[in-house]
Amino acid sequence: MNPIFANLPVTVFEAMSQLARDNDAINLGQGFPDHPGPEDIRQAAADAVLNGYNQYPSMMGLPELRQSIATHYQHWHGLSLDPMSEVMVTSGGTEALTAAILAVVEPGDEVVCFQPVYDSYLPIIRQAGGIPRLVSLKPPHWRLTEEDLRSVFNHKTKAVLFNNPLNPAAVVYPREDLELLAKFCQEFDTIAICDEVWEHVVFEGFKHIPLMSIPGMRDRTIKIGSAGKIFSLTGWKIGFVCAAPPLLRVCAKVHQFLTFTTAPNLQTAVAYGLGKPDEFFEEMTTDLARSRDRLAAGLERIGFPVIKSQGTYFLTVDLSPLGLNETDEAFCKRIVHDYKVAAIPVSAFYEEEKVTSVVRFCFAKKDSTLDTALERLSDAVHRR
Ligand code: PMP
Repeated sequence: MNPIFANLPVTVFEAMSQLARDNDAINLGQGFPDHPGPEDIRQAAADAVLNGYNQYPSMMGLPELRQSIATHYQHWHGLSLDPMSEVMVTSGGTEALTAAILAVVEPGDEVVCFQPVYDSYLPIIRQAGGIPRLVSLKPPHWRLTEEDLRSVFNHKTKAVLFNNPLNPAAVVYPREDLELLAKFCQEFDTIAICDEVWEHVVFEGFKHIPLMSIPGMRDRTIKIGSAGKIFSLTGWKIGFVCAAPPLLRVCAKVHQFLTFTTAPNLQTAVAYGLGKPDEFFEEMTTDLARSRDRLAAGLERIGFPVIKSQGTYFLTVDLSPLGLNETDEAFCKRIVHDYKVAAIPVSAFYEEEKVTSVVRFCFAKKDSTLDTALERLSDAVHRR
């Protein structure tokens, strides 16, 4: 069997969720909310299933959804996208990423990635024959530096894969870092595949800036989005690819043989949802910020050094000042077993130069779930 996939471990999310089930633990590992999601958007999907169209839709996505994506990004980020030649709907951000990587990367091409790296990127880059060039970002700021970029970019750099806001580090990159990355992309004629699935989960004081909007990046960026994240309906798996026509055309050629198309009834509901007023999106982030603050305050009371979360469903804690003398992975295994709370060790997102002291918790949960988890963890940093 193909060693690229045969030798892959089970993903850390599945492994920790299994440990959570085995130990009857509260799962603050995998990132999904434990509420049902916006009712009107679910109703729109139900109506579309019963009264709408349930046959193969257009390969590129329903025209009304592509229009609604273009309008949404114009409104929120001032991006001007032609819905017919620059927007495509996929079955989730994961499919969009795979289509983009396979469309761009040829054998021998180098692809710059930043660790902590989302787990789908590297196997697909390798399957395309690409060679990942990894930068190791460091807590607590996880910022890009000129020196790091200079050490990996060169004339063989075909693409850079950049995740912003960054899961699991919960950073929203400022314009300065995006401009630095853009400078390297232009110097080395590199295509940026920008995973922006968390673009709407950005907290007060921070602002999501699409890499595509940075001068010089409009026609060399493939922007990836996910309705699952925008509407906290993670099982829906509706993704978007936005790119200039010469790039999108090739992504579409890959998409036609990955999934070809995506459930039309869910597409109808997403088209409706993207048109909702600004207050809807603002309320969603306000609610999530409240949950973030609840978990952060509780963890700090217990004694965890919490790194402030700027976006995503996650916050991280850095164990190093606690002197626990164990890695993030050992810590996560211990707390799921002894305290019945599952979290994710951030070292699982590294292949080289690992950071082994940071743990990720998901706060997109009901207050009662967070409170019970905190009660259970109350002596987790002391009793050893
Ligand atoms: N990229 C990142 C950084 C993610 O966190 C996720 C979801 N966990 C995805 C891509 C995948 O998105 P989707 O569920 O739409 O496939």
